[in-house]
Amino acid sequence: MRAITAPYTVLLNMAAIIFNNCRVFDGATAALGEGMAVLVDEGRIKEISDRPLSASGARVIDAAGRVLMPGLIDAHYHALLADLNVANLDIMPPSLLHQHAHVNLRAALDRGFTSVRDAGGADIGLVRAVEEGLIKGPRIFHAGKALSQTGGHGDMRPATHFEPCACAAYHGPICAVADGVDEVRKAVREELRKGATQIKLMVSGGVLSPSDPVWMDQYSEAEIRAAVEEAATRRTYVMAHAHTASAARRCVDFGVRSIEHGTLIDRETAEYVAASDAFVVPTLSTIHMMKEKGPGLGLQKIFADKLGTLFEDAQQAVSVCHEAGVKLGLGSDLIG
Ligand SMILES: [Zn+2]
Ligand SMILES: [Zn+2]
Repeated sequence: MRAITAPYTVLLNMAAIIFNNCRVFDGATAALGEGMAVLVDEGRIKEISDRPLSASGARVIDAAGRVLMPGLIDAHYHALLADLNVANLDIMPPSLLHQHAHVNLRAALDRGFTSVRDAGGADIGLVRAVEEGLIKGPRIFHAGKALSQTGGHGDMRPATHFEPCACAAYHGPICAVADGVDEVRKAVREELRKGATQIKLMVSGGVLSPSDPVWMDQYSEAEIRAAVEEAATRRTYVMAHAHTASAARRCVDFGVRSIEHGTLIDRETAEYVAASDAFVVPTLSTIHMMKEKGPGLGLQKIFADKLGTLFEDAQQAVSVCHEAGVKLGLGSDLIG
């Protein structure tokens, strides 16, 4: 059954709505409130009652016993991630890529997500398109381009690619390369100028990048601190792709607030993260889907090999983080 969802901006412009006869999940307790009624006005819940509600001018919806719940937040999402082999996005026309984004955003909304934090790719144009009602989708918090060092997780050039240009810089639809403190600083400022609500860095190796081992630490301390400092001047923060325990620890030490994936976090590191202000956003869904369906969907062998036991590791890391009291978010990182 499809979830019935509406983005916040749409709700703001709608007449008051009363949902009668629903089971309410409030997120505070596991129990569902039976036979409840909820009044929503100007995008806010105004009243929750155990008796049917009425209000003049309000649209009344009989939920017929269905569950009514707050919109979900996908804290690690990519509207533009339309192909399992990410380098294919480099040769996709932007107009086509954004049609994929439209479909992906609509699908996220249909799954019940009314807010997504885009971890690389989405820009102010997509945000505006949703806000203006041109396309249906969740509210987007976008990072702009995810920033990577040369040869890092955001550099989609394979080892066999010989760069014809002396500038040797990669710039794709999801990620951009910036090396050294000055370039990182400038790239961060550029994304913030374009309205990014947070900055995304790649600070460990990853699965779907062709030239870096997963275990690799990426970006120097000075580069990461420069990004954190620039984000702070805009009163925002850095989220960082970090699979390994070492990368998670560097995130904590250098001021990164949101540790993405955290797939190889061990107990000792989980306790270290738990004692800090940092969050971990595991992304079990995409790792599971890649393992189960990747080869059938054309996942190249080089990436399947890098995936290895990461799904089992990721489940273990979530348990360890939960037991240590790490603040956890939910991220899908879904592709296509
Ligand atoms: Zn990542
Ligand atoms: Zn991601």
